[in-house]
Amino acid sequence: MIAAETTVRTLKFFVNGEWVEAHRPLHPVMNPSTGQVIAQVPYATASDVDRAANAAHRAFLAWREVPVVERVQVLYRYKDLLEKHQDEVARILSTENGKTLEDARGSVRRGIQMVEFACGMPALMMGYSLENVARGIDSQTIRQPVGVCAGITPFNFPAMVPMWMFPFAIACGNSFILKPSEKVPLTPARTAELLAEAGLPAGVYNVLHGDKEAVDALLVHPLVRAISFVGSSPVARHVYETAAVHGKRVQALGGAKNHLVVMSDADMEKSVEAIMGSAFGAAGERCLAGSVLVPVGDAAEPLLALLLDKTSQLRVGPALDKSTEMGPLVTAAHRRRVISYIEKGVQEGAMPLCDGRERMTDENEGFYLGPTVFDHVRPDMTIAREEIFGPVLSVVRVKDLDQAIRLVNSSPFGNTTSIFTTNGKSAREYASRVEAGMVGINVGVAAPMAFFPFSGWKNSFFGDLHAHGRDAIEFYTEQKVVMSRWF
Ligand code: NAD
Repeated sequence: MIAAETTVRTLKFFVNGEWVEAHRPLHPVMNPSTGQVIAQVPYATASDVDRAANAAHRAFLAWREVPVVERVQVLYRYKDLLEKHQDEVARILSTENGKTLEDARGSVRRGIQMVEFACGMPALMMGYSLENVARGIDSQTIRQPVGVCAGITPFNFPAMVPMWMFPFAIACGNSFILKPSEKVPLTPARTAELLAEAGLPAGVYNVLHGDKEAVDALLVHPLVRAISFVGSSPVARHVYETAAVHGKRVQALGGAKNHLVVMSDADMEKSVEAIMGSAFGAAGERCLAGSVLVPVGDAAEPLLALLLDKTSQLRVGPALDKSTEMGPLVTAAHRRRVISYIEKGVQEGAMPLCDGRERMTDENEGFYLGPTVFDHVRPDMTIAREEIFGPVLSVVRVKDLDQAIRLVNSSPFGNTTSIFTTNGKSAREYASRVEAGMVGINVGVAAPMAFFPFSGWKNSFFGDLHAHGRDAIEFYTEQKVVMSRWF
């Protein structure tokens, strides 16, 4: 069991059904709400990856023979265990990541929905057939597992993002190695314990902690057949290129710069509520966070007045406090990076309407930073172009919808974008013309449910088949076409 609060423990690798002491140099895991060390984590080397890949491969050879209806029984039990331990997992997550408990619970719920969807694998994995494709010849397609799959995940959703991957991979008959973010290893350790408790055979699911060295070893290991990655765009590109060169199938989800467009006919009260959640929920550490606010025409004045009122009242505090609306950033280093963007915004001439640095604490008291809103941001400024991944909202004013769409489409990213309007024609035109994979209409965080794909475009995604939805079943299976004739 992992304590939700502050005892310092040393993490282990989970390989071949056992928790293995790593004997590797240890690195601190922080509680961002207190600035204190709560655990120590070893980083895997190439030889650890080799051991895990071999164990996973042996397990795969047996697991692929288990009928899919039996395989999903483990996931049904896992879902029950996750439901039972939802609050405990959310507390661990909130403690090591810094997002509020309510937000953490929501993300665990989203993870559970992935498991629920994967439980339908007997129907999802079916192929199709056609009698008499030529005289006396029938043809059918079947789907088979690909082998050992690996997942490499970011710090911001340590329960949900791995569940975009392994429930589908395992239900399809593959084995899996997870390399979670080294910043938040406690949540994936607890969810692995629960999966073992659900009765998954040894070696089908493995967890290796670590950084670039472990990732790079997975990308080139001959027994690893498929790589699922979620993280920043430069690393996503590296993962995509390296794994592809080594003959693996890859889905690599990258970073984002998401625009929220507000028309003057929008319901301002409700829109601002959604914009607050989008820009400052999880302290802006979401790939679906709105980070550029685009008021169209006359929308700017009423929108910004309401937004500033709400921003000044936003309660920043410890993640587990009931009254907290925005927790700290994940690490001191990440907070310094976000602050450097705020400094850059000021240098480049943007106008801070409120400055989060005024609500900062010392690093040994937690990694807090208040919300920042910059007005009169030009599209060529750094804060309008680059992913900041913190509670910083840049306002770029435009004159009409066409200019808004051109602004959004000029971004090298294409993860998500939202429009706020009461006009159906504007909404329809926006959804049709905008170059992004997920579009919200009066929705601030347009996160697709488990049965739809998470479908970023441009530099927000490298690959072909996206995460979850039906894409996941295609990604984690090979297709075979069988033609048969009986003499
Ligand atoms: P990150 O890219 O720093 O790390 C992601 C994973 O890659 C981690 O497991 C890390 O250990 C590993 N890694 C880091 N640097 C590496 C390197 N040089 N070589 C090989 N592996 C490396 O991302 P993060 O800071 O953990 O997460 C935040 C980022 O993730 C943001 O850019 C965010 O937009 C993105 N994200 C995207 C999605 C999406 O669905 N598109 C979802 C969540 C987060």
